[in-house]
Amino acid sequence: MIKTRFAPSPTGYLHIGGVRTALFSWLYARQNNGQFILRIEDTDLERSTQESVQAILDGMEWLGLDYDEGPIYQTQRFDRYKEVIQDLLDRDLAYYCYASPEELDEMREQQKARGEKPRYDGRYRCFTGTPPEGVKPVVRFKNPTDGEVVIDDLVKGKIVVSNKELDDLIIARSDGTPTYNLTVVVDDWDMGMTHVIRGDDHVNNTPRQINLYKALGAEVPKFAHIPMVLGEDGSRLSKRHGAVSVLQYKEEGFLPEALLNYLVRLGWSYKDQEIFTVPQMVELFDLESVNSSPSTFNTEKLLWINQQHIQTTDIDHLVTHLTPFMEAKGLDVSQGPVLSKVADLLRERARTLIEMADGATYFYQDFTEFDADAAKKHLRPVAEEPLRLVQQKFAALSEWKAEAIHAAIQEAASDLDVGMGKVGMPLRVAITGGGQSPSIDATAELIGQEKCIARIDLALQ
Ligand code: GLU
Repeated sequence: MIKTRFAPSPTGYLHIGGVRTALFSWLYARQNNGQFILRIEDTDLERSTQESVQAILDGMEWLGLDYDEGPIYQTQRFDRYKEVIQDLLDRDLAYYCYASPEELDEMREQQKARGEKPRYDGRYRCFTGTPPEGVKPVVRFKNPTDGEVVIDDLVKGKIVVSNKELDDLIIARSDGTPTYNLTVVVDDWDMGMTHVIRGDDHVNNTPRQINLYKALGAEVPKFAHIPMVLGEDGSRLSKRHGAVSVLQYKEEGFLPEALLNYLVRLGWSYKDQEIFTVPQMVELFDLESVNSSPSTFNTEKLLWINQQHIQTTDIDHLVTHLTPFMEAKGLDVSQGPVLSKVADLLRERARTLIEMADGATYFYQDFTEFDADAAKKHLRPVAEEPLRLVQQKFAALSEWKAEAIHAAIQEAASDLDVGMGKVGMPLRVAITGGGQSPSIDATAELIGQEKCIARIDLALQ
């Protein structure tokens, strides 16, 4: 069975690049009826925070990236790592290294001076003497000294690294805590990972990890290293490029499936299709079509994709996601038209749920001010006659439906011998407070007859 995982370190936000890695792993597992695991790599006790763990869990939940096991915390598995480190020491596949930081600095300086690449020179690899006093040793893995490591990366293709290039990796720090390269291998082995899909910032670790798998007698999983996400200026995506935490996109009014759609397209393509539902992503995603060069984050494109999903998603789903934004604006949706009808009307234009909630305000809240530009252009001082006339016609309507409302506006315009806009625009400003709204007859229908008449009164004052 296919098994994949997402293994974030809880040392900051759950950011866009991380979520894309999670998504690719999740899609691959779901597509193959496999399993997906969430593992929190929290061994860096100084930098890991509970807040960051929570942000990861909340982000995964919001996005609907469900997991079959987890969250598993590495800090709960220290005994297991110790056992593996001891086993490697016992089998002479690892050793204590007593080199002090000063000694290692000096070693590197000398290597540089000789024009060599700085690397640990294995000075304690065969050490049998009396350990220097007062030095707490680290544990290093005995990397093979000859031969090569081959990675058949599912995204990057074949990568060959000579063991001569690799020095002896630290697997336990001097305080006894295990390092990332050790824990990740033990976990991926114990948890039966078949595919390790992760950011390509880890590609340099992979040959060392493969050597560790071999030393442990473990089966080596397949690897897929996903290229980075760059900001629009070509540098690595960071805080400078705007929203970084995935939850910020939630707050900014993006639908989770729109963000996933954007992320799946960031470095993966299927023909020239842009819009994918989540089930379509699960069906069509493949690692072979993941681009092996970095992709660039583009907020405009994300907005466009969000708009497409807002337009086409199931209306109840849209309302579920829109409701918190209405509440945040203090709007009581029980005091006005059914929200699904308003949402259906507004979804043609809105790029975010915030824009939708802004656009929905006048359906639920009266106002005393009009948008200054719109009022200047359409309301005062010219619009008195058309507004009075259309108000009369509205009052006379026995059926308050868009069609009848449309006819009333048309009649008013023809009575005055002017174009529809000369009635429609002042009316729009009068009943919505601004110069932009969905079609005026449908909008008026939802606002309601009594309210429209009262708002025209206000505009005429
Ligand atoms: N914990 C690592 C990170 O957040 C990822 C490890 C991995 O996927 O192998 O960068």
